[in-house]
Amino acid sequence: MTISKDASAPSRERVPLSTPDVGPLEEEFLLRAFRSGWIAPTGPDLRAFETELAATAGVKHAVGLASGTAALHLGLQGLGVEPGDRVLTSTMTFAATANAITYCGAEPVFIDCRRDGNLDPGLLHEHLRESGRRGRLPAAIVPVDLLGRPADYDRILPIAAEFEVPVFIDAAESLGSSHAGRPVPSLGHGAAVSFNGNKIMTTSGGGALLTDDPRLAEYAAYLSSQAREPVAHYEHTEIGFNYRLSNLLAALGRAQLRRLDDMIERRRAIRSQYVDRLASHDGVSLFGSDNVHRDNAWLTAVLIDEDRSGFTAAQLGDWLANRDIETRSLWKPMHLQPVFEDAETVGGAVAEELFATGLTLPSGSALSTAQIVRVFDAIDDFLCGGPQA
Ligand SMILES: *Cc1c(COP(=O)(O)O)cnc(C)c1O
Repeated sequence: MTISKDASAPSRERVPLSTPDVGPLEEEFLLRAFRSGWIAPTGPDLRAFETELAATAGVKHAVGLASGTAALHLGLQGLGVEPGDRVLTSTMTFAATANAITYCGAEPVFIDCRRDGNLDPGLLHEHLRESGRRGRLPAAIVPVDLLGRPADYDRILPIAAEFEVPVFIDAAESLGSSHAGRPVPSLGHGAAVSFNGNKIMTTSGGGALLTDDPRLAEYAAYLSSQAREPVAHYEHTEIGFNYRLSNLLAALGRAQLRRLDDMIERRRAIRSQYVDRLASHDGVSLFGSDNVHRDNAWLTAVLIDEDRSGFTAAQLGDWLANRDIETRSLWKPMHLQPVFEDAETVGGAVAEELFATGLTLPSGSALSTAQIVRVFDAIDDFLCGGPQA
């Protein structure tokens, strides 16, 4: 049950990509926290949320923060990233990953992805060998689990270990995904998750830093509350931030955590239906290898091979937009962003091709059956009639 827009409303209502999936349970938790009087950036719900989230993510410590971006920032700073450092990440990501690197005064280095959209371990290895020879090893590596699918940790982690470079995972999209049976956020030195409204679960806005390292967790918590020393008067020896998650939002997060598995199952079911619907169509394929590791199916995307399909991803996207169905291309690669035009880049052609040929489809767990049927019908119409119809 959801209290988001009425599922049986007239069919011209917009079908969104991914919206908050909240209902009576969230309302109950939120109200209870409100009535408890803890309308503060701390409180019992925040502490309970951190404990429950750590258990879900398979780590010892979780620090609730104002956003996933804040978690990336504090995680990198906590791992010692400093002005002048270099930090490697995938060019196929959302700007927040690269922005957090620059908040530390460091420079992002963008590495191309493989066809599944995740950091290319071969290019990573080559780049580390070369930068090691030149005595310019990066301060950290930030793999991104694109659309919820885990990056290739079987290869990335040993490569990072070989050069003794810490790995901080941008798991903003992959809470609930696992790699070889282990929850993704538990694989690196730390990870950032996001509870933005469009993510797999939400606190309306928020994020968390996850780690097994008690010092990293403690340092992030300290930095997130203005770097206040634990003394009665206000004492500061370092520049801090105001990045804490509020108690009310943590209460919302606690309700969402209880429904996380169900929300993931719903997204997985939606993806399977897309696969069945599109499988027979030449030149249309599911983006990312399916089910090698268990992923949260955050967003379903397809790749369109124009030579075989006879249409482009943009044409399909326009067709659906005209029917009030929201789609997006995959992230525009960071090395193509004007703000990062001077950044060092390793490769980039694969990410560019994915950007040109990929399309994400409505995938939210709050979608009603009627909305999904509308998407399928519109896609069927397009595939029968083509863009000219
Ligand atoms: C959403 C997202 C973030 C940022 O999370 P916020 O909570 O919005 O700050 C970072 N990286 C990736 C890959 C994301 O998708």
